[in-house]
Amino acid sequence: MQRGAKAGKKTLITHAGRDPHANHGVVNPPVYHASTILKPSLDALEASRKPDFTGFRYGRRGTPTTRSFEEAVAELYGVESAVAVSSGLAAICCAILSQVSAGDHILITDNVYFPTRKFAGGFLERFGVEATFFDPMKPEDLAELIRPETKVVYLEAPGTMTFEVCDVPALASIAHEQGATVIMDNTWATALYFDAFGHGVDIVVEAVTKYICGHSDVMMGVIVSKDAQAAAIRDTVFMQGNCSGPDDLYLAQRGLRTMAVRLAENERNALALAKWLSERPEVDRVLHPALPSCPGHEIWKRDFTGASGLFSFLLKPLSRAALAAFLDGLEYYGMGASWGGYESLILPGDPAAARTVTTWNEPGQLLRIHAGLEDVTDLKADLDAGFERIAALA
Ligand SMILES: *Cc1c(COP(=O)(O)O)cnc(C)c1O
Repeated sequence: MQRGAKAGKKTLITHAGRDPHANHGVVNPPVYHASTILKPSLDALEASRKPDFTGFRYGRRGTPTTRSFEEAVAELYGVESAVAVSSGLAAICCAILSQVSAGDHILITDNVYFPTRKFAGGFLERFGVEATFFDPMKPEDLAELIRPETKVVYLEAPGTMTFEVCDVPALASIAHEQGATVIMDNTWATALYFDAFGHGVDIVVEAVTKYICGHSDVMMGVIVSKDAQAAAIRDTVFMQGNCSGPDDLYLAQRGLRTMAVRLAENERNALALAKWLSERPEVDRVLHPALPSCPGHEIWKRDFTGASGLFSFLLKPLSRAALAAFLDGLEYYGMGASWGGYESLILPGDPAAARTVTTWNEPGQLLRIHAGLEDVTDLKADLDAGFERIAALA
């Protein structure tokens, strides 16, 4: 269903990808559990055997449940294609694989999500694809490193754990001059806060697991692109045997409908915590793209329309016992991987271990916070009590 070109993003996430009157007036699309999909005649069977992915012929190739989710995401991004896959990492791997062959080269930002680094820098090498990492904050480095055989420039903004915001349009224009495809992990900002295609990106990957799902109970990813890349992406996903389950697709679509209000609240709480932390004597620096203390803050202001709920801060150097006392006593912040749900999380990180061409020599411990939807006064009080536990050990 095509909506008016002027529909706002909140209107799109509310209406895209569903058609109640094709389903007895029921508001949400039905959940189709299917492997086998029957055809009533030889003619219909033969007609369904098209190499493309229109129509429905087998569960792995997608059902109406798959397509309604994919249509909603594609329409939200304002492009033709979205392909749902089994996780955010699957989206990353399939997107890269759809663009490279043996002998090709790929360039990747040095502050990238760590499994992306492992896939491109280690695993892909076995298949004759070479990966080079570059400093995302120095477009001149990209210009120097790019080669005729570079097929992909892979970006993530802001950087995982450390939140530097790179100049996506500048990097994309260098990539395009050499004919390379720009793939970007847009999990942090989502379609609501960063218009990736409007800033020169060719293929967007998102961990649906995070903000689209929003409830910490689904693993899923999505690869979004214009028509030009759509067939190669679909084929690659198909040849990996990758597909998503119907109940997960339903939950992801249900999460999508409320993403704008959740994200706005995650953003408000995160910003309040980031500002509060930046004034604490125990804190060395806050890495939140909306604060001037974050590298690339000016670029964030220019290119992004919001910040989500995820940011990091650096504690002044402290003992492991003090760090444990701070973390172990927290009441509302869960300690664990992932983010984007309704609940707050905290996670220690070690960026130095995940870099090869940029240096990270901050002396203090990095902690990443995902601000959930709790009352922010409680979230502050919880951290405040943690700082008191540190002081009690000194
Ligand atoms: C979590 C995450 C992913 C991977 O998503 P999964 O669904 O966990 O595989 C990719 N990119 C970023 C930035 C992430 O934070």
